[in-house]
Amino acid sequence: MEKTLARLRCADPEAAAGTGAGWDGVGGPEPLRCAEAGCGGEAIDGTACPRCGGLLEFAAPRGIGREALVQILRERSKGSSAADRSGVWRYRELLPHLDPARIVSLDENEIPLQEAPRSAAFGGVERLNVYHCGRNPSGSFKDAGMTVAISFAAARNSRAALCASTGNTSAAMAAYAARAGMGAFVLAPAGGVSQAKIAQTLAYGAHVLTVEGDFDDALELARAVGAASREVAVVNSVDPYRIEGQKCVAFALLEQRGWRAPDWVVLPGGNLGNVSALGKGFREALALGLADRLPRLCVVQAEGAAPFAKAWQSGADLEPVKAQTVASAIRIGNPVSWRKARRELRACDGLALAVSDDEILQARRAIGSDGLGCEPASAASLAGVRVLRRQGVLSGGEDVVCILTGHVLKDSSVVEPLTPEPVAKSVDAVLSAMLKEKK
Ligand SMILES: [Zn+2]
Repeated sequence: MEKTLARLRCADPEAAAGTGAGWDGVGGPEPLRCAEAGCGGEAIDGTACPRCGGLLEFAAPRGIGREALVQILRERSKGSSAADRSGVWRYRELLPHLDPARIVSLDENEIPLQEAPRSAAFGGVERLNVYHCGRNPSGSFKDAGMTVAISFAAARNSRAALCASTGNTSAAMAAYAARAGMGAFVLAPAGGVSQAKIAQTLAYGAHVLTVEGDFDDALELARAVGAASREVAVVNSVDPYRIEGQKCVAFALLEQRGWRAPDWVVLPGGNLGNVSALGKGFREALALGLADRLPRLCVVQAEGAAPFAKAWQSGADLEPVKAQTVASAIRIGNPVSWRKARRELRACDGLALAVSDDEILQARRAIGSDGLGCEPASAASLAGVRVLRRQGVLSGGEDVVCILTGHVLKDSSVVEPLTPEPVAKSVDAVLSAMLKEKK
């Protein structure tokens, strides 16, 4: 390992600032490589390539065969340790190495695929399953990545976790940092903080610091703080550990299906870390012989926040937009992981498209009618299925999985209208109002 470290230190003098001193209980930091095509930059820690500033990622796992892995997973399904129960850490041979005793887990990504017949009818397909990440401990898909980010931050003796966010990311960070006994700090754009949205984060004991500027300014500042202090772990989706945890959604989904891939996996797209992670997970599963093929991925954005869908359709580079949509979790105009996302869609013959806010809210009602419910952003996936069917990309007989990203209580600001007038306080009035509503 020493030899590897020395080589990596030499790759770029600036990279030496983030070497692995202070690691504890880790088998040595794994090498990270630049995710930009043709760059070749390497680092052992950090969130940006020392050569080009692009995003970093871990190389694919090697040296373990399919049969051995399937056997290990079968054994673990009977296990009761936190590491064996977790829908992320049970795949730990496919993650950067960490002593299981150091894992910070809240039983994340233990999610059953659920049939959604009314949603299927809405989408125009015969059969549709949902993978509802709202069932995670902090109520969103972010937990699968956050358990890995915080476990490694704790192992390298970070004193505090930091992120720029006021939504699902900050809630997930706050929960896992609390579990690790680590301080948690959120950088929030001044004036852009809604008490309601940040309430969950505060409940886990995190601290919110408001800063001048917008979200992009806050993220830039967070990354600068992380680069300046080794005691601070920045856990926005630029953190490559987040992607490693998030990719386990692909493994968990395949394992439940006897390692048979669905035809399509459809998911909402905001910052595009999720599709980048999912694509990486499916590719690694195929390379390891765990999956029989790659599912096609479809990223669905809201029309008012669709720079990636636009770039995908035109073939041009992404042009940031001023984002506007009811789906707050995907209200992102300048998605940081768009190049990774494009690479993943190309690899699986996937595609990206946009749907209107109205279509999102209709799809959300359909998901609600299956008794499942979700935050508005999640429903973009089902709205996307309907568009794929309308466009003839889907014939209706395909095996489709929708990823729902957040719990129905995550964004309570979008509610259906109430009855305009109070009902008279009589049995007859209530019964007749009920009959009228049901129509
Ligand atoms: Zn690079």
